[in-house]
Amino acid sequence: MAPPCAEEAARPGAGPATLGRFVRDHPGLFVLTGAGISTASGIPAYRDADGNWRRKPPLTQQEFTRSEAARKRYWARSFVGWPAISRAAPNAAHDALARLQRDGHIGQVVTQNVDGLHQRAGSERVIDLHGRLDRVVCVECAATLPRAAVQSVMAAANPAFAERDAPVAPDGDADLEVDGAGFDAPGCPRCGGVLKPDVVFFGDGVPPSRVNAALAALGGADAVLVVGSSLMAYSGYRFCERASELGKPIAAVNRGRTRADALLALKIDADCVATLAALALELARGALTARCSLGTIADTVRYQLVLRFPGDAFDDFDEILALETALAERLGELGEVEDRDVGSDECRIALLTVDPVRAFADARTVLERRGLLDASVAVYRPVGARDYTVRPDDPAAGSGGA
Ligand SMILES: [Zn+2]
Repeated sequence: MAPPCAEEAARPGAGPATLGRFVRDHPGLFVLTGAGISTASGIPAYRDADGNWRRKPPLTQQEFTRSEAARKRYWARSFVGWPAISRAAPNAAHDALARLQRDGHIGQVVTQNVDGLHQRAGSERVIDLHGRLDRVVCVECAATLPRAAVQSVMAAANPAFAERDAPVAPDGDADLEVDGAGFDAPGCPRCGGVLKPDVVFFGDGVPPSRVNAALAALGGADAVLVVGSSLMAYSGYRFCERASELGKPIAAVNRGRTRADALLALKIDADCVATLAALALELARGALTARCSLGTIADTVRYQLVLRFPGDAFDDFDEILALETALAERLGELGEVEDRDVGSDECRIALLTVDPVRAFADARTVLERRGLLDASVAVYRPVGARDYTVRPDDPAAGSGGA
């Protein structure tokens, strides 16, 4: 099948600027994420860059329900692996997607991951296609329990396993060679039935209600963005297949090939954390540029640029005055020093300007020349809610755009 956007055929190595255009051109994106987005949070991917199994394939639902030995082995490994999963924190890619969703660039997030990191980063409207590892469900009576409570029960029943530590896998079981025969697997506190993590095992179907909710969201989206998935599992690939049938363009950020490569309008073969962090910054700067135009048209709109320094950044007050003079010279008619506040923890210099993008770039130049790389620069619109904070030593901050 031909790519939906022939003029934007897959271009490996295309940078965030191209991705930024894709995102701006298609507001309300349908975003599909896979294991690759969580590897930087310490949760490893199952497949390598060619889509091959990096480890032995995960446990199947059939094995789990049919074999008590398999269940004991699963829970023993899961018991050891859970602490690392529960400690994992969202990374800059999760943060970037949460921000893009808040700013209206993303409608629905659908994830193949079971780690809950999108929600912890602040994303709303997330469909956990394969369930959540922080929940446990009884296969007889369907009671659900928090995973943390089940962990406590297992810890009390299995003191010999409490000291074990091992590398973890994406579904939370540990890479641990253990037969599990000596492990006391948990039972349902209500009916005594078999407990399983509330996740879809390999080879098991995703509940139709989840698939339908995700397909409905896809129907309302202009385009699809895949992040950190090789799409080898049909549960994720099906959304690309459907998007292609509907003529919706698909972009993917993933190291290595994906099963949907032939369907992609845009392919970014790169690390998804660095790519999404740069994308979020670029989109924020785009918003800044738009407001700058507003300020230029109606010069009564002024922006406040606040430079913050650690309290020990200056040896004496004269240094601050010298910096203010340098800033005022550099800014010229673009702005003026409005206020200063010198504290023991933090020093602030506030500038008023009609052109925050130019002023931002000029202030960075002055700060860099003076070696003040620990400063943060934030631009505030005097009336308006959004702030943008960029460290002047951030290479992605560029030279001021516009
Ligand atoms: Zn039960």
